[in-house]
Amino acid sequence: MSALAKNYNRRKISFKKGKGSFLYSTNGKKYLDFVSGIAVNSFGHANPYLIKALTKQSKKIWHVSNSFQIPEGERLAKRLTQKTFADYVIFQNSGTEATEAAIKIARRYFYSIGQPKKNRILCVKNSFHGRTLAAIYASGSKKMTEGFGPKVDGFDHFEFGDHKSLKRSITSKTAAIMIETVMGEGGIKVVPDWCLKELRKICNQKKILLILDEVQCGIGRSGNFFAFDNSKVKPDIVPIAKGIGGGFPLGAVLMNKKAASGITPGTHGSTFGGNPLAMSVGNAVLDQIFKKGFLKNVQKLSKYFHSELNKLKEEYPKIIKEVRGVGFLIGLQLFDDQTKFVKKLMDNKLLTIRAAENVIRILPPLNVKKKEIDLAINIIKKVCLNYK
Ligand SMILES: *Cc1c(COP(=O)(O)O)cnc(C)c1O
Repeated sequence: MSALAKNYNRRKISFKKGKGSFLYSTNGKKYLDFVSGIAVNSFGHANPYLIKALTKQSKKIWHVSNSFQIPEGERLAKRLTQKTFADYVIFQNSGTEATEAAIKIARRYFYSIGQPKKNRILCVKNSFHGRTLAAIYASGSKKMTEGFGPKVDGFDHFEFGDHKSLKRSITSKTAAIMIETVMGEGGIKVVPDWCLKELRKICNQKKILLILDEVQCGIGRSGNFFAFDNSKVKPDIVPIAKGIGGGFPLGAVLMNKKAASGITPGTHGSTFGGNPLAMSVGNAVLDQIFKKGFLKNVQKLSKYFHSELNKLKEEYPKIIKEVRGVGFLIGLQLFDDQTKFVKKLMDNKLLTIRAAENVIRILPPLNVKKKEIDLAINIIKKVCLNYK
């Protein structure tokens, strides 16, 4: 009997090692891993470059308090700001801490300019921003908040895609709008560029902050560094995590000068956030993401993957309803519940994971090979062929 509490319905499989896009189970089977720890293992398993960075740092310093200078963190923050909209970074250890920090930064900004009553955050109903108390109430999901009252106040909601309700929901108390640029858990729903531009415009008009949650869709997963890059929109605050650590727990919140102006010594902190081990791995992840041609290749191969999946959709129009997503954040929406399909893919040695709305999430490592995509397509095809 497991001593782990039952907060997960775990599949009955465990792995003894991984290499690149593959995982090897303890019972001797080889799986193509297109879950990537939910968009975390950006470079698959046992990536030699990341191993080198981690082991090298592990022999020097693992952890020091944030009351000292941490050069590895200075470097990672500088690189993140040089390549993005941001002027400042705060490091955390996870996605939900990053979204919490984003909320705090937004509220603190208005507090610092003498508008402490402007403190509500407007979010998408049934979105996902993590599992801390504030984050579950930000998500506006009944399922996630059930039994965890009293309700954490300060969040308002609108339906995804309902622009009228969005505009109606902005009040004099709204401090920020926070959305996922691509809804991950919610079913791989992409916010189109024109919507992002419109959002930016609305935020400017109403003098509120724009928070784009890139925890799942950021750090190259979309084919660009951020999923909002193509829109040319500049948000005020962006929480990131998942992909930036390549498997090492690492989160961060990026912000522009304005948003950062309320942050003074003592306003926020984290014991572990930004420790030298995490920072060294984060820098090694960026080394690879920023390598010339890397993101171009993600764009090229993911385009190929999408087009092959769309061919399957044409072949099996009664099974596959829609191919969703961007880059290597792919959703295969079925007409039926996807549980059985995910299981069958696993029986055929392809690991995927579900999302809302009957969607199968497909998240290969960003350095996946074309022949591995072909292998996945063949497995999906085989499962379609023998479906029901
Ligand atoms: C996963 C996720 C989070 C939470 O990240 P954790 O590391 O699990 O706390 C927050 N926002 C989005 C969009 C996510 O996908």
